[in-house]
Amino acid sequence: MRAVVFDEVGQVPTVREVPEPECPPGAVVVAVRATGVCRSDWHAWRGHDPVALPHVPGHELAGEVVRVGDGVVRVRVGDRVTVPFVCGCGVCDYCRAGDAQVCPDQYQPGFTGPGSFAEQVMLPAADTNVVVLPDEVGFVEAAALGCRFATAFRAVQVHGRVAPGQWLAVFGCGGVGLSAVLVGRALGARVVALDVSPAALERAAELGADETVDAADLDAAVARVRSLTDGGAHASLDAIGSPTVAAASVRSLRRRGRHVQVGLLLGADAATGLPMDLVVAHELEVLGSHGMAAVDYPAMLDLVRRGELAPAALVSRVVELEQAGAALAALDHPGPPGITVVQP
Ligand SMILES: [Zn+2]
Ligand SMILES: [Zn+2]
Repeated sequence: MRAVVFDEVGQVPTVREVPEPECPPGAVVVAVRATGVCRSDWHAWRGHDPVALPHVPGHELAGEVVRVGDGVVRVRVGDRVTVPFVCGCGVCDYCRAGDAQVCPDQYQPGFTGPGSFAEQVMLPAADTNVVVLPDEVGFVEAAALGCRFATAFRAVQVHGRVAPGQWLAVFGCGGVGLSAVLVGRALGARVVALDVSPAALERAAELGADETVDAADLDAAVARVRSLTDGGAHASLDAIGSPTVAAASVRSLRRRGRHVQVGLLLGADAATGLPMDLVVAHELEVLGSHGMAAVDYPAMLDLVRRGELAPAALVSRVVELEQAGAALAALDHPGPPGITVVQP
C-alpha cells in the first residue's frame, strides 16, 4: 500500500510503498478515507515528540473497516469509523472506568505506531477505541473529530464546564482553538478568541466568536479580556501550547475560573511559570486535557448529527496523499486558518 514516510527528523515526508498492516487479535485495519494534518504530527516530525524511524504520521482519521481481528465483537467489516488519537488498552482500570484517554498502556497511531497518512492503518483494542460514525457524518468531517475537535469538546464541556452566558477565552485559533469556539457557542457560552493572526481572528468571528483580541502583546490582551468579560473569563484555554500563553490564560480568569491546557508543552516548554499566587488567591483550577475517550463520542456525534456542531466548517483544504508531506512541513510557518485534510 502507499504511505507517507519520513526517515529522518525534519526531512520532508514522501509517498512510498510499504507493507499492509497486520491485524492482531482485538484490532481492526481501516482503509483511510480522510486524515487531518495536525500540529501534533508536526511536533513528531520536528523531533519534539520522538518517534521510531522510519515513521508514518497521522492520527486524525476516518475510514472503512477492511479487516477485523480475532475477538472483536462490536465492529464489523464495512463499518464507517473514526477513533480517538489515544487508543486505550481496553483492560486497565482507567479504560474500564471510561478514561481510555489517560490509559497508562495507550497506543497512539502516528506516534507509538504507524499512522493514517496511508491507505490503511491498524487500530488496537477496537471494541474500546473504534467509534462507528452516524450516516450523516462524512469522512472528511469525521477526520476533524478524532483529535482537535474531540479535545476541544471535552476541554470546554467537561473541564471548562462553561454554562450558557458564561465567558470562554480561547488563546490560539488554529484547529483546536477554532473547534473550541464552535463548541463554546454551541453550549451557549460567550466566546473571546485570541490570536496574533488577523486571518485566524476573522475566521473565529465567522464561526461565532463574540469578541476577538489581538494577542501580539499578551499583557494588553489579558487586560482586554478582563475588561470585555467584566472581570475575567469563567474558563480559558491555551490552545497553542506555550508557557507565556498558558500564563496569560490563567491571568485572564475571574475568581474560581478554570484554565484548561490543551496545546502541548513539550521539552523545555513543559516547565511553565504559571502564576500560582493567583491560582491560590482566586481559587483557580488548572486542568489538563488529553483528548476524549471513544465512550464519550456519542454525545458529541449526536450534536454533529443534529447540526448543532459543524466540524466541517473547520476544514479549509482537502489534499491528496502526495501533498501530505508538504502540508506537514508547511506548519513550520503560520498558514491560513482551518484544518487541512488528506484523502488517501
Ligand atoms: Zn487501558
Ligand atoms: Zn491531532
